[in-house]
Amino acid sequence: MFRLARARACAPVKTASISRSFLRLNSSFGIPETQKGVIFYENGGELHYKDIAVPKPKANEILVNVKYSGVCHTDLHAWKGDWPLPVKLPLVGGHEGAGIVVAKGENVQNFEIGDYAGIKWLNGSCMSCELCEQGYESNCLKADLSGYTHDGSFQQYATADAVQAAQIPKGTDLAQIAPILCAGVTVYKALKTADLKPGQWVAISGAAGGLGSLAVQYAKAMGLRVLGIDGGEGKEELFKKCGGEVFIDFTKTKDMVSAIQEATNGGPHGVINVSVSEAAISMSTEYVRPTGVVVLVGLPANAYVKSEVFSHVIKSLSIKGSYVGNRADTREATDFFTRGLVKSPIKIIGLSELPEAYELMEKGKILGRLVVDTSK
Ligand code: NAD
Ligand code: ZN
Repeated sequence: MFRLARARACAPVKTASISRSFLRLNSSFGIPETQKGVIFYENGGELHYKDIAVPKPKANEILVNVKYSGVCHTDLHAWKGDWPLPVKLPLVGGHEGAGIVVAKGENVQNFEIGDYAGIKWLNGSCMSCELCEQGYESNCLKADLSGYTHDGSFQQYATADAVQAAQIPKGTDLAQIAPILCAGVTVYKALKTADLKPGQWVAISGAAGGLGSLAVQYAKAMGLRVLGIDGGEGKEELFKKCGGEVFIDFTKTKDMVSAIQEATNGGPHGVINVSVSEAAISMSTEYVRPTGVVVLVGLPANAYVKSEVFSHVIKSLSIKGSYVGNRADTREATDFFTRGLVKSPIKIIGLSELPEAYELMEKGKILGRLVVDTSK
């Protein structure tokens, strides 16, 4: 199922006519015609690590020489095609790409050649609807998504809309910042959505995964007390390293609701659901404290959140969805990282090892985030 097809180098690609937008190319970077990337042609089909053409930036785009890309569970959903939103095919996935701008289109004002840039989930939006106007660009009905509707960062060179691409300070460790571009921004926004106060309890369900391990740290930095829920080898240790206070192992705990409520003296004030478990999400409506807020972030396929109406009313609960973040959230989440308040718990692997990464992710065996080095 996860078999890797190592294709032989493609035949040389015919020299494409150079578009006007590509003329601002800095030749010192020596951009090749082909590159290594991981591409699939059908959902659930083979993941080919092979030579593919280097894309040319449009007038509004930058071309990023991607050095590292985080592997998000969303990439696995995209490959499987298990969401009710079709992906572009064939597709190069990836939306946590960090690298260097090597070319730019003629309309790009906010990046120079040589700048560090980040490729994030939201690649572009219409910028003219009511949602975009108010900063809800990710909710725009015309949103364009890296590694989903636009070829993403599992390749050495990727294009990105310059308006949405993240600005990364020069000198930043590109492998470390890669997970901030989706996981970090997403959990930072989810915590803002929960609107909790310093000293209150937040439960992170899925606390040792890619999003969860960063959520624990952002929550700590915001002055919250953190209870983490996850299960499996090494998960509690990672949670504690990230600064979490109380860990509940869902694989070992019989009465989860009582255990969580006892540990938090009546239930957490807020819950950030970053697991890919429908049952875990529904359970969070049971253990959350009266007047508390349940935030939905993880996106298990075909899932529903069930909340028993009588308790929901009597406890006056809120359930809110939270979807990545806008440009301001990206800048703020990056700032927490740059100031050393959060660190990405990463393991670096080669881009060619992506299929094995998906296999481990499916089994819930990854601690923190895997980051691919595009040169291997
Ligand atoms: P991940 O695989 O790295 O982490 C998931 C974690 O959940 C794992 O550590 C796993 O052990 C744990 N888990 C599994 N079952 C559990 C249970 N019953 N209770 C508690 N924990 C459990 O995944 P990720 O990259 O962190 O992504 C998580 C989800 O968030 C995915 O569905 C992804 O598509 C989604 N996502 C949403 C947004 C958004 O904007 N809303 C953004 C990025 C990712
Ligand atoms: Zn993601």
